[in-house]
Amino acid sequence: MRKRRLCRIDKHGCVSCGGRAFEQRSVINDALASTWGLSARERAAFNQREGHVCKACQMSKRVRMLLWSIRELFAAASGLRILHLNQINHLTPALRALGDVRETCYQPGLERGAKAGDCINEDICQLTLPANHFDLAIHSETLEHLFAFGKGLSEVERVLKPGGVQIYTVPLLHSRKTRQRMQETENERIVHLLPPSYHGNEGEFPVVWEFGYDFLDHRKSKISELHYDNYWQNKTVFTVVEMKHTSS
Ligand SMILES: [Zn+2]
Repeated sequence: MRKRRLCRIDKHGCVSCGGRAFEQRSVINDALASTWGLSARERAAFNQREGHVCKACQMSKRVRMLLWSIRELFAAASGLRILHLNQINHLTPALRALGDVRETCYQPGLERGAKAGDCINEDICQLTLPANHFDLAIHSETLEHLFAFGKGLSEVERVLKPGGVQIYTVPLLHSRKTRQRMQETENERIVHLLPPSYHGNEGEFPVVWEFGYDFLDHRKSKISELHYDNYWQNKTVFTVVEMKHTSS
């Protein structure tokens, strides 16, 4: 059963630092808007999600939404075991206040489980971490870059304790069906079904999936809550909460 919670994350200032001054930057470039096929309104919505930034702590609206959900579910928590996958900008200090944080990044050329600076090198689809270990796992804007995003979600679930949750964000358009841009063949050859589209700096993160409403239907049995900021104005600013019910 999934519960939808509507909120206004900036009602009392920045969720992270309490700051009241924000600035709006333009983040979605022409190439991305064009390959993604965004309307002017959709582009503005994603610009707000990514480019509406707290002037004091620099946290974007998407990350503030994620932090709002973490605070909502773990208000007075301490001593949590937290898995912070693919380290999200500016989120680390807030997570450290809640417990012990394991942070990961991913460099395909490096051995899985090896240290990479302050992080451990981890592939979300095959973690080197023990099962039933974490209370909370966080990831953001990762699934759309994975050929087997379902495998990634199952793998994160594996390392959660029963009752533990993963909280994540995905770029998603509620008005469309999911579209796949790239495919991987059995012999690991990459086939472009649509012209390449990228997130991040040029060519940094090729987009495999453009998620639509069917993603949420597909995850229905796993999703316990959906949190939306300013639902009637901009549905792109939301987080997904999946809870692990049994040990696996
Ligand atoms: Zn702030």
